[in-house]
Amino acid sequence: MLHQILTTVEHHHARLVAVSKTHPVEKILQVYQEGQRVFGENRPQEMLDKHPALPADIQWHMIGHLQTNKVKYIAPFVAMIHSVDSLKLLQEIDRQAQKHNRIIDCLLQFHIAQEESKFGLDEAEAIQLMSSPEYAALKNVRICGVMGMATFSDNQQLVRQEFRQLKGIFDRLKVRFFAQNDHFKEISMGMSGDWEIALEEGSTLVRIGSLIFGSR
Ligand SMILES: *Cc1c(COP(=O)(O)O)cnc(C)c1O
Repeated sequence: MLHQILTTVEHHHARLVAVSKTHPVEKILQVYQEGQRVFGENRPQEMLDKHPALPADIQWHMIGHLQTNKVKYIAPFVAMIHSVDSLKLLQEIDRQAQKHNRIIDCLLQFHIAQEESKFGLDEAEAIQLMSSPEYAALKNVRICGVMGMATFSDNQQLVRQEFRQLKGIFDRLKVRFFAQNDHFKEISMGMSGDWEIALEEGSTLVRIGSLIFGSR
């Protein structure tokens, strides 16, 4: 399955984040040995535990909701944080990144689904954040794009429309804030149930867990 996914992902000039949450290091190592280097986790503590037990050239992506008091656990090594949904969190990532003399790549998470429970900004909040002097003062974070989760639904039209909405947000933010910035290029969308739709709608990073690792 991994190779089938990779063929399609590469055809769309996107990248795969193999979501390894809840799976043991042995299973992650198997996927690593097939050539995969980007892995996603949704809990800081779990990422912190797995990181030293696995090869150092793995790029660890934090994809789950992140509390400010947990940023310090992953700041020394995390490659990208997909789930930035407040200025407060971004400021803490900046502070911790500075301690380790790093610049941490981040994505702004948007609420695009119909479900109430999903985290994320709306477009107006993101514009406010990007326009604020507090954001302008941050030196150790780099906003590389956007992330979102579609409604968990069999309604493909709904899912497609939500992905299209996220792509629209990306395009407008790009023009307004990042026109001269080559780093702002990522659209993280698509999971095991909807990754093919996401790629058709412009995803650059699909986050796939159960299709690769089996069910959790
Ligand atoms: C678990 C998770 C995924 C992967 O989900 P699958 O359905 O197993 O592919 C993707 N994104 C986020 C934010 C997740 O928490």
